[in-house]
Amino acid sequence: MHSDVSQFDLTAPHTLDAALRLLAEGGHAPIAGGTELMVALGAGRLTPKSLISIQHLRELRFIRADDNAIHIGSGTTFTDIRRNPDIARDLPLLIQSASWTGSIANQNRATLGGNICNASPAADTPPALLAYNATVTLISSTGTRTIPYTDFHLGYKRTALQPNELLHTITIPRAFAGYRHYIRKVGTRNAQAISKIALAAVAKLNNNTITDIRLGAASLTDRPTRCTATERALLNQPINEATIKSARAALASETHTIDDIRSTARYRATVAGNLLEEFLRSLVR
Ligand SMILES: Cc1cc2nc3c(=O)[nH]c(=O)nc-3n(C[C@H](O)[C@H](O)[C@H](O)COP(=O)(O)OP(=O)(O)OC[C@H]3O[C@@H](n4cnc5c(N)ncnc54)[C@H](O)[C@@H]3O)c2cc1C
Repeated sequence: MHSDVSQFDLTAPHTLDAALRLLAEGGHAPIAGGTELMVALGAGRLTPKSLISIQHLRELRFIRADDNAIHIGSGTTFTDIRRNPDIARDLPLLIQSASWTGSIANQNRATLGGNICNASPAADTPPALLAYNATVTLISSTGTRTIPYTDFHLGYKRTALQPNELLHTITIPRAFAGYRHYIRKVGTRNAQAISKIALAAVAKLNNNTITDIRLGAASLTDRPTRCTATERALLNQPINEATIKSARAALASETHTIDDIRSTARYRATVAGNLLEEFLRSLVR
């Protein structure tokens, strides 16, 4: 059933400070690109009746690179990300995930912050951000706090954000030169599909041995998932049949795969293992 738009309020404060003051009053929800929230509105599922538009706030739309990290404002669109040369050089997994999020029209409007804060287990950018060891800075009218991105997702559609907070910045260390980067999304078709399973990975090798590795997955569990037990099973191991087998076993035992409208837990567990194996074999090719 469609919503009655006249039942909703939309305020568009001129500054971030004004938006944060309004949020602190309670009873409001932020709207950025609106590509999630407008679908909910159209379907009659949008519960907050008072929306604060943050889409036009310049304070949230930036990409800054310094020697140590790339800092991305939450209001940065996927098109901004795809066009940025620093991200293209250092963070190919983020470029790839931005490029397969929805359509071009969607990418022109949708923001990185909205993709993260919507907290869907199937969202496209979280696996890359988990693999890249991102941190997120949250802001409210009383201050800011920075937490590892691994601590942001608390469950299905639940995050560490307080009602008076906005996601301000996503920071990714420039620490992956010399790493191998892998990302793959499996959906019902190649474009405009929500993932049934996705895996992003970075690894560093010395000869044939893995000296550092990070794995992030989408649609595997009830939230975007960093696969730490599998990483431990692979660290300091040579890539051979025994390592691949034990890594597959570690992945299967650390994740409780989900059944939902897009796929089954069994399919997800099998395909996640296949993607991990594909990544590991690619390292020695
Ligand atoms: C046709 C279509 C195809 C799509 N395909 C994909 C796809 O392939 N992959 C994929 O991952 N997604 C897809 N999406 C979902 C959506 O486009 C993305 O999740 C997008 O990144 C959401 O960003 P937004 O700015 O539009 O978020 P909004 O709709 O504005 O907000 C989403 C949620 O995040 C909150 N929020 C937004 N910004 C902040 C902030 N700075 N701080 C705190 N909370 C915030 C909002 O309150 C809301 O709860 C698709 C959507 C459509 C309509």
